[in-house]
Amino acid sequence: MASRRDFLHQGLRLTALGLVSVPLVDAHAARAAAGRDQADAPGPDLEPPPDLFDSQVVDIDFWVKPRTLSVIRPASGERASVLYWKDGEVIDSAYQELCHLLRDVNGKASIAIDPKLLETLWASQAFVARYGLDRPLEILSGYRTPASNRRLIEQGVPAARQSLHMSGKAADMRIAGLTEEVLGGLVKSFRTGGVGFYYRSGPKGGWIHTDTGLNRTWKG
Ligand SMILES: [Zn+2]
Repeated sequence: MASRRDFLHQGLRLTALGLVSVPLVDAHAARAAAGRDQADAPGPDLEPPPDLFDSQVVDIDFWVKPRTLSVIRPASGERASVLYWKDGEVIDSAYQELCHLLRDVNGKASIAIDPKLLETLWASQAFVARYGLDRPLEILSGYRTPASNRRLIEQGVPAARQSLHMSGKAADMRIAGLTEEVLGGLVKSFRTGGVGFYYRSGPKGGWIHTDTGLNRTWKG
């Protein structure tokens, strides 16, 4: 039997081909569907399912409109909103600014960030904003120099020896108000690379690692 996700995939493909002129499902319908799912759930206090942020539940307009990325770096106290993509192209000066924002704050070094990573970061933020959660992305870690990465490993912080952070292809992030489950589930649904779920207790919670490597998920 076809799942709702299959149906939505099909809908998106048809829309992309111009075979239907309006999106089959809008955010309102998605919310209603999510509410139904919740009503069927066994307990009253469960989190909304990650499917609430099913990335297929969007019209093509979402992907073609100008893209602004709002970023906070807790490590340096910086925050910025950068319009970096318009009319299908990355704006070079804005791209340079984002590469600087995503730099290794400790090692004081930057690198050319993979534009595909920026796309994932932007999509996460923009997608959540559609549900009324208009919050900046907190970037805990972007680029890491090999020395910084080594230091993290020595300190017992979870970091891979061949980390994609060292080539500008990974970021660790959180969005205030979203659980690791929901944010990670959203990023995973984009199918743009690896997703690590780092669950932590405490007021700030954990974080999500996203990279542009192979599609895979893990818990750390
Ligand atoms: Zn990471």
